[in-house]
Amino acid sequence: MDFEEQRRNLVARLKAEGIIISPSVEKAMLTVPREEFVWAGLESQAYVDAPLPISDTAQTISAPHMVAIMLEKLDIKPGMTVLEVGTGSGYNAALIAELVGLEGKVVSIELIPKLAEFATSNLSKTGYGQRVQVIHADGSFGYPRGQEAVYDRICVTAASASIPNELVNQLKPGGIMLLPVGGPFAQRLVRIFKDDRGEVFRETLDWVSFVPLRRGDVK
Ligand code: SAH
Repeated sequence: MDFEEQRRNLVARLKAEGIIISPSVEKAMLTVPREEFVWAGLESQAYVDAPLPISDTAQTISAPHMVAIMLEKLDIKPGMTVLEVGTGSGYNAALIAELVGLEGKVVSIELIPKLAEFATSNLSKTGYGQRVQVIHADGSFGYPRGQEAVYDRICVTAASASIPNELVNQLKPGGIMLLPVGGPFAQRLVRIFKDDRGEVFRETLDWVSFVPLRRGDVK
């Protein structure tokens, strides 16, 4: 079975399971070639619904169902400006680029230099190089640090012990942020809404398991 057929089968399964709901997420997942984002040698597992290791850094590319859940909860629309914290392989950033379209903007921030490089190369070979800006820095305070209300959506793909205020501040009125909150092994997915008056609401969703959000000054 070729990659395209494997991709179609996986998307059909996630749809049948009720994980992929919207036509936009379905189309994005049918479009982005996950085999181009996995670590060399793991291409044959690209369409198994599981997280895969990326390099020897102990980081992982999230399982396709997890990525689909996050994208559905974020309700990303064409033209939006989206921040991702934790670029990893660049796969989720490419999906977000599909969702915001050519008039939107994706900024993705990655702490580990080797992964920022890996993601940049994956995104450029798949044609997303101009559509996603990969920044090598600590994203726990957002990007740029201290800037206020610039993002329609924020997607954090590493687990945080608490909800960083700096990230909430970077969300525009009407914005949505999704992040795993909790300890090193298990977290709850938390969705933050900021209303048009700037008031913030929090919704606690499923149990999840992400690698920890690390601080750049801690080795
Ligand atoms: N979204 C990725 C998977 C992310 S795994 C994908 O689609 O492949 C989580 C990533 O968060 C790892 O690459 C890890 O290095 C990164 N990370 C951890 N702490 C971070 C921080 N403070 N700032 C930016 N990236 C961070």
